[in-house]
Amino acid sequence: MLQDKDRIFTNLYGDFGRDIVSAKSRGDWKDTAALIAKGKDWIINEVKLSELRGRGGAGFPTGMKWSFAPKEIKTGRPHYLIINADESEPGTCKDRDIIRFEPQKLIEGCLISSYAIGANTCYIYIRGEYFNESKILQEAINEAYKEGMIGKNACGTGFDLDIHIHLGAGAYICGEETALIESIEGNKGQPRLKPPFPALVGLYGCPTIVNNVETIAVVPTILKRGGKWFASFGRAKNTGTKIFCISGNVNNPCNVEEEMGIPLKELIEKHAGGVVGGWENLQAVIPGGSSMPVLSKKICDTIKMDFDSLVEVQSGLGTAGVVVIDKSQDIVKCFARIARFYKHESCGQCTPCREGTGWMWRMLERINKGDADVQEIDMLMDVTKQIEGHTICAFGEGASWPVQGLLRHFRGEIEQRLTFKNKKIA
Ligand code: SF4
Repeated sequence: MLQDKDRIFTNLYGDFGRDIVSAKSRGDWKDTAALIAKGKDWIINEVKLSELRGRGGAGFPTGMKWSFAPKEIKTGRPHYLIINADESEPGTCKDRDIIRFEPQKLIEGCLISSYAIGANTCYIYIRGEYFNESKILQEAINEAYKEGMIGKNACGTGFDLDIHIHLGAGAYICGEETALIESIEGNKGQPRLKPPFPALVGLYGCPTIVNNVETIAVVPTILKRGGKWFASFGRAKNTGTKIFCISGNVNNPCNVEEEMGIPLKELIEKHAGGVVGGWENLQAVIPGGSSMPVLSKKICDTIKMDFDSLVEVQSGLGTAGVVVIDKSQDIVKCFARIARFYKHESCGQCTPCREGTGWMWRMLERINKGDADVQEIDMLMDVTKQIEGHTICAFGEGASWPVQGLLRHFRGEIEQRLTFKNKKIA
């Protein structure tokens, strides 16, 4: 269990002030100028040493991503840093609490990260539903300007940084980095084909790095305490601390910062007050937001919460939005609801996604009502395979994986339901 002295987010529950004076008393903005004075290469190397992987879902190594930005800034092609605060993944609300209670950590991270990639302009793209949070963030940005932490000659470093907030309009797909860029440009939020990748051709055709809120908010602490310190938590390539969002059938739904690799059972029992009705009442857990494949209770008994452990059981850490489902829930109904969400949020550019998400939803609704044949289970799996890997963006996987997880772990229950129902009808 993570000790208090190793917590990065010391005000995650809003026990103290979020204003810049309180934030400074907790260590924010300490030695920022000295860190910047060490240079871009040092900053990027330290982040590489920490083995920090993106906290927004994909888990891409942050230091490596930054190193893709061109070293030289060409005239007329400025670099941009974009902070992805779209946070639309069901089961996830960690970035919201960082913005609410630790906004200065994020702003300090924006300054250091922008410097590392040579960006003088940073956009924070925040979902429109986080309207109150956007106001809090704007106040925090205003404070940082007033104190000289950002703006011209930020922190007295000679480096200039402007931060702008851009409010989204509530589309899930705008959390995908290229759709997000399109949205900032004033276009429909639809993903772009890659390559070219945003690091070379991003916002307004210029080199752009897009990072999640939590990823950037932990950067200042990593640099202050050292990449090796961060890497001492968890295991190789799965390092550091992480905010887990625990919801569903638990006694105490919460956000908590813990060490990467904490056993799922310990996470739920120590921090979320356990499963409603006890651990034996557990049916399944979605470990990383609704797009990650569900885990059966048997796997939940022993699984560790890190990127690679979850991949080994054909799931993923995603955003670490842990959704607990107890035995009182109708598991097919749960996943029919999730499928409806993805059908609704598909941007419609790719036929497999546009049509397939609707097929999956309708088939699951039929299975839920018992109006399907047992053979349709294989047909449903086939639909997921025709979407997965055949689309412009990872939404195709995000929509297919929950259904695949359901069929993988609950096929027996589904077969039983359909056989019983069909027999009754006959
Ligand atoms: Fe749009 Fe879906 Fe294609 Fe992504 S996979 S671009 S969301 S249609």
